[in-house]
Amino acid sequence: MNLADINTIRSLLDKSGFSFKKSLGQNFLIDPDVCPAMAAAACDKDTGVIEIGPGIGVLTAELSKTAKRVVAVELDERLKKILPLTLADCKNAEIIYGDIMKMDIKKLIAEKFSDCAKIAVCANLPYYITSPIVMGLLESRLPADNITVMVQKEAAERLCAEVGTRDAGAVSVAVSYYSEPEILFEVPRTCFMPSPKVDSAVIKLKIREKPPVSVNSEEHFFRLVKACFAQRRKTLVNTVSNTTGTEKEAIKKALESLGLPETVRSEQLSLNNLAELSNLI
Ligand code: SAM
Repeated sequence: MNLADINTIRSLLDKSGFSFKKSLGQNFLIDPDVCPAMAAAACDKDTGVIEIGPGIGVLTAELSKTAKRVVAVELDERLKKILPLTLADCKNAEIIYGDIMKMDIKKLIAEKFSDCAKIAVCANLPYYITSPIVMGLLESRLPADNITVMVQKEAAERLCAEVGTRDAGAVSVAVSYYSEPEILFEVPRTCFMPSPKVDSAVIKLKIREKPPVSVNSEEHFFRLVKACFAQRRKTLVNTVSNTTGTEKEAIKKALESLGLPETVRSEQLSLNNLAELSNLI
């Protein structure tokens, strides 16, 4: 069965009386090249893959061919009528029905993938929860090799922006702290059914074994990073002082000791600058 074929999808959905739910971010892939490319980037024969939101199983089937085992978490129980048909030949794929946001993914990994040398997360993510999913996965420090996901193009650019450039924000700093991010390729809106109003991109976050910078307290570091990017038009001194109540003089002194001008903007700081600043103030 060609699960990326629009007529196959229509016939499957019609037979089971399935209608798309916008509230669940249900835009199904209808391009034959995207899923094989995602699977090749995410996994190999030794990898256990967690997929989020299999839909009718178009990516699940590709992952099942490439990986050792796939466990896919789907919220929409109406797909129980379809997935057993579409994945009948995928003996190493299992579907769990539930909300990924409420699941203990570390426990799932320990239960399902004890014999897998590598773990990956791969998904065409529902857009309404992109950031909480990506940040939740990174912050929970999953024992994973990579997170390879399709997200809205603008979200991809923000998540993967190089720290120290105009596009970077607090979220890009967090992504670069936990992983090495890369935009792999773009996916136009015409590759989905129904077609969304935005284009997409596939990103790969290669999880770091340890952060590239050393901070005294991660909690304090991320609080400072949020403050730095809270008021983007202001200088770092003003936004950090306004947001955290820290004396301007103390911030200026810290910047001076790092060799940075007091007029500097947060977007001009490298990850290392931000780490050093958080260790000073
Ligand atoms: N993987 C399929 C594809 O590429 O065609 C479907 C991707 S569609 C963008 C997102 C999928 O995530 C849908 O199947 C939707 O029902 C599911 N989903 C939405 N919210 C979810 C949640 N909180 N937990 C698990 N799955 C969810």
